[in-house]
Amino acid sequence: MSDNPDIKILGIDLGGTKILTAVTNAQGKMLSRDHSITPAKEGQQAVVKSILESMSRALDQAHMVAADLTAIGVGAPGLSNPETGILFTSPNLPGWRDVPLRDIIEKQLGKKAFLINDANAAALGELYFGAGRGARNFIYITVSTGIGGGIIIDGKLYTGSTGTAGELGHMVIDDEGPQCNCGNKGCWETLASGTALAREARRRIKEGAATSIPKYADGDLEKINAEAIHEAAQAGDKLASELIAQSAYYLGVGLANLINIFNPEVIVIGGGLSNIGDMLLKPAFNEAGRRAFKQAYQAVRFARAELGRNSGVLGAAAYAFEKIKVKEATSHS
Ligand SMILES: [Zn+2]
Repeated sequence: MSDNPDIKILGIDLGGTKILTAVTNAQGKMLSRDHSITPAKEGQQAVVKSILESMSRALDQAHMVAADLTAIGVGAPGLSNPETGILFTSPNLPGWRDVPLRDIIEKQLGKKAFLINDANAAALGELYFGAGRGARNFIYITVSTGIGGGIIIDGKLYTGSTGTAGELGHMVIDDEGPQCNCGNKGCWETLASGTALAREARRRIKEGAATSIPKYADGDLEKINAEAIHEAAQAGDKLASELIAQSAYYLGVGLANLINIFNPEVIVIGGGLSNIGDMLLKPAFNEAGRRAFKQAYQAVRFARAELGRNSGVLGAAAYAFEKIKVKEATSHS
């Protein structure tokens, strides 16, 4: 982002299950890193308290106080408005509605803070420090329990008119498809996420399909996840391979839509499901190739995310840095 050694940013990646907080410099190097569990079920106040505690541990670890910080970047799940710093609602944080998360953090630390959607943050992380480095037009997708994403147009994160752009997982693929948490039917994440893969496996097993998948989930249908299905497929299980092929198909359909709409240089894929690797991604890319405009498909490069669990926290920091830079540039002119 910059060579200025004085810049120190506190990045926070708030997830439904974990909170990751880090102090980074302007090159994306982490000077400290704190990892804790999100007490999501205990409600909003408990989560906010955990965030504040995690921030102070990250500062301690870096031998810093809040006054040493340049800015704070917060990535949070769900719908938020980066301009107002309000988190409207989040499927991963039950009970949260219109929470002024940015202001709460600013007040506590006395430093400028910026709020952004977690998947958008991860997109920025990959853009600045990961597989999207140097790209001008780039799409990031994370495929895990749901599908999230971020859209970079001409080197900038596209957030839309009220800040909620990039909800790639809620692009409708099948108008009569499975019910989605958002209230709609057949969204991409109801067909191509890790949750969808596990759900299909359970459904087929209950119908009586012959498979070794439960063996990889301690014999417990509820414990079946993408990893168990992948392991079964690697061991030659026919149903497991079939289910992964089906996920790949739907993943490819969505990718084709993104390629046709955005004509990106790079599509970076992260999230737990992408760990299945070639068995999932190769047929997905091929399906996209069968459907997308040839010229646009030939122009796109597919890459696996490089930053793993750190993409969100680094991206939240990068977002804060970008915002500060813009503010400085306008105040000097
Ligand atoms: Zn949806």
